[in-house]
Amino acid sequence: MFDFLSSKMNSIFTAFGKKSAVSEEDLDKVLRELRITLLEADVALPVVQKLFNEIKEEATGAALIKSISPKQLIVKIVHDKLQQVLSQTPEETAVKLPNRLVTIMLFGLQGVGKTTTCAKLGHYLGRNFGRQVVLVSLDLNRAAAYTQLQNLAKQNNLGFFEYSPQDYNHSPLLIAQAAKRYAEEGGCDTLIVDTAGRTNISAELMSELKELDGHLKPEERILVADSMLGQVSVKMAQDFNEFVKLSGLILTKMEGNGRGGALLSIKYITGIPVKFVGVGEQVEDLEIFSSQRIADRILQMGDVVTLVEKVSQLESDKEIKGLGKRLAQGIFTMDDFKKQLESLLKIGGIGTFMGFIPGLGRIKDKLSAAGIDNNLLKQQIAIINSMTKEERKKPDIFNGSRKKRVAQGSGVGVDKVNRLIKQYEQSFKMLKKFKQGKLKDLTELGKINNNL
Ligand code: GDP
Ligand code: MG
Repeated sequence: MFDFLSSKMNSIFTAFGKKSAVSEEDLDKVLRELRITLLEADVALPVVQKLFNEIKEEATGAALIKSISPKQLIVKIVHDKLQQVLSQTPEETAVKLPNRLVTIMLFGLQGVGKTTTCAKLGHYLGRNFGRQVVLVSLDLNRAAAYTQLQNLAKQNNLGFFEYSPQDYNHSPLLIAQAAKRYAEEGGCDTLIVDTAGRTNISAELMSELKELDGHLKPEERILVADSMLGQVSVKMAQDFNEFVKLSGLILTKMEGNGRGGALLSIKYITGIPVKFVGVGEQVEDLEIFSSQRIADRILQMGDVVTLVEKVSQLESDKEIKGLGKRLAQGIFTMDDFKKQLESLLKIGGIGTFMGFIPGLGRIKDKLSAAGIDNNLLKQQIAIINSMTKEERKKPDIFNGSRKKRVAQGSGVGVDKVNRLIKQYEQSFKMLKKFKQGKLKDLTELGKINNNL
């Protein structure tokens, strides 16, 4: 009943000399599929093309890992590449917060979530860094924009700079300067500026923002972009970055839909670090950016990635390497069997392992119906521990009294000992078959064991 698992393990950690590498054909096939995934996740086409050229160069000829399909391996390579493109240092991710009055300007077109993000950011900096925050709205074209920010400030106990535009000659710059003084006099240390939004980028808007930027000299210039707008956001980020040198990005509306393509594209094209992602309408819905999380989201294949990681970890395990050599020589003792059981436990037990492999779900169900789980693995290891050295080396010496002793030693019935010995023998048989090349992959193993 257990033999296919053992064989599976053999195939993982036994390098029987058959060298295999990712072929160009494999790569093309998988990359073609992945291209659709990335485009569906709204990654810009030129970005996909450039990325894939780089990936092809890196992945052609990459060493295959036994029992992981080329496809799984390529997915992992692509995932790692995405993560590399998205990666940035913790300093880049962090908001600059020197110990004095800090000005943070938020830019972005109308409707992207700029005003909401001002409140989210203020709330986050207050809660996590004890910052005393003042919000100021510089959107003079829409009175509603002012009251919206005012309400958000009130609801979240954040400071708010109140003013009448006519007192400042309708000048955003004069208002911003007054807000800075207001913050300083009130003993506050963080001014968050909600700049004017427009439906389009215009020369007029850009010169206004540039002037503000020049005078206020903010510590952070953050572009708020809407992840749902995809390619439009990419173009917008490039344009904004040309006029005001952006120090960070916040991508909004990233919850639920599993997308991250716009974020990847903007990051890849502009190189601007991402500070946060917005994941909802509430003030708490702001997450610190994590490259891993976004790469997972884009590919939505986290399981495959974990599997490849775990199996390559196993392969580099010294003990298992030694075991592989022994198996190659046809040596397979109870101790070797025990090591296999332990490896299974190491990668997260039967359930996790089988769950990773498409098509094995049915067998997994059968196993759990038969009461085979991690506790059984542990029990079997305990049985082997109760055997003498000699018995482990030559299991064929087992007779009734030896079995009884082992059963007593490990606190189980003799039937359990019998079962274990039988499984060991079946594993040995399967190993020979595998060596003779009669078993190719897991599905075959599955078929054989369905008959048990
Ligand atoms: P602004 O015009 O750029 O200032 O955008 P607003 O802050 O007024 O937000 C526009 C709409 O987007 C509002 O309905 C917000 O509640 C919503 N919004 C902002 N950020 C997010 C987010 O991360 N997720 C979702 N689902 N909605 C958001
Ligand atoms: Mg607004």
